Amino acid sequence: MSGITIEQLRERVRGEIITPDDDRYEEARHVYNAMIDRRPSLILRAADAGDVMAGVDYARENGLDLAVRGGNHSVPGFGTCDDGIVVDLGGMRGVRVDAAKRTARAEGGATWGDFNHATHAFGLATTGGIISTTGIGGLTLGGGIGHTARGFGLSIDNLVSADVVTADGHLLVASDTENEDLFWALRGGGGNFGVVTSFDYALHPLAQVYGGPMFFELEDAETVLRFYRDFIASAPEQLGAFPGFQVAPPLPFIPEDRHGDTFVIVVAAWAGPLDEGEKALKPIHDAAPVVAEFVGPMPYPALNSAFDGLVPPGLQHYWKASFAGELTDGAIAAHLEYGPKIPTMNSALHIYPIDGAVHRVASDATAFAYRDASFATVIAGMWPSPADNEANTAWVRDYYAALARESEMGAYVNFLSDDDQGRIRTNYGGNYDRLVSLKNKYDPGNLFHLNQNISPKG
Ligand SMILES: Cc1cc2nc3c(=O)[nH]c(=O)nc-3n(C[C@H](O)[C@H](O)[C@H](O)COP(=O)(O)OP(=O)(O)OC[C@H]3O[C@@H](n4cnc5c(N)ncnc54)[C@H](O)[C@@H]3O)c2cc1C
Repeated sequence: MSGITIEQLRERVRGEIITPDDDRYEEARHVYNAMIDRRPSLILRAADAGDVMAGVDYARENGLDLAVRGGNHSVPGFGTCDDGIVVDLGGMRGVRVDAAKRTARAEGGATWGDFNHATHAFGLATTGGIISTTGIGGLTLGGGIGHTARGFGLSIDNLVSADVVTADGHLLVASDTENEDLFWALRGGGGNFGVVTSFDYALHPLAQVYGGPMFFELEDAETVLRFYRDFIASAPEQLGAFPGFQVAPPLPFIPEDRHGDTFVIVVAAWAGPLDEGEKALKPIHDAAPVVAEFVGPMPYPALNSAFDGLVPPGLQHYWKASFAGELTDGAIAAHLEYGPKIPTMNSALHIYPIDGAVHRVASDATAFAYRDASFATVIAGMWPSPADNEANTAWVRDYYAALARESEMGAYVNFLSDDDQGRIRTNYGGNYDRLVSLKNKYDPGNLFHLNQNISPKG
């Protein structure tokens, strides 16, 4: 190797360097999706932006693969690699809130749990993931769908600026006024353009939401989905509500004799005045008899961690996804066929509404192109035992194939698996060529290629 030696790297960084001979290696090399089993030659647990710059230099100078890890939730396992280096931001999780300006600056390895905890203390919030252990890093860079998307927009629509270590090892500020082209590309372009060491978000006054999950009988699934399609199209934007299918977990609010049964669900989050929440959710309640529910006023971070128990680390994951302009009769028929076959309690079929504020941003205003899609559907296969891999991946594939006829060609990049790289161009639509040209400007050597990759070659 002609580049930086490991000893030189050790001298440059304050964080931990973990190599295969280290006791911590086994634990450090694993990612959230247990189907991924890779062995990097070095894991750098960065302490600050300087460490990230050193890690990027080390990878580039030595011609090594570079995996970047934030919250570690990538289903394709982009946060690790064989033989190369992992820059792990998991130790960089600080969040500073400026309550007067209604902004928060969060380090690149923070999770949504870290973020929501910090902002909730000030009665402020923004759109983030529905599971608290997901990283703000990967989720934001792909777009960011959450309960408040209809009202506040995607996570990227609330991004004010980012500190980015680019492939040359320099740190740039990207915002509407500095490196505007990089800022455009970061908002939806995933990890293709650099390592974001901190994100600045705009916040909104929101301490409590009125919401939670409602469970309906499978025999009412068609009624509920048809109702939802009509209802959400004209529901106030303060209402986030998504339907799905769920195997009932053993929770006290679900009758014990129904644990393990499959239901059609609606998970609601009313972010308007709390005393109007019951009324806002009444139409959903009235759509069909509710078998079980856990609905009421609750802190926003509580709703955003309510389902954490269903998705512990160490599950096998295989996901597919699509965007849809409409929930067509054909799509509903596909859901009625495959939703009830959801194979495990951990798995999820969710149909997220992405209209309202998301639609008010032009398709070419950020890299996230699908601004006219109204729904982002995810078929998230998650299961404990590798022995069940075949059955679970088959459910995801068959469901996706049935829905594909009723969907757009593209899908949310953060919900794709590693066999979906062929859909990248479609996902970025008319923004793809600009992304390729910016990839050539900021990362011509494709150092950041372990992601849903935008190749500099186009
Ligand atoms: C249980 C679960 C729940 C989810 N829920 C939602 C949801 O509600 N809404 C939603 O939109 N998505 C959701 N997702 C999808 C999620 O957005 C992606 O999995 C995302 O990649 C996770 O980001 P991470 O930082 O946790 O993952 P990581 O595996 O750490 O990162 C994935 C990739 O993102 C890039 N990346 C991460 N951090 C940085 C950074 N700081 N700088 C540069 N690049 C970075 C890198 O390319 C990295 O390889 C969920 C995923 C899971 C597994």
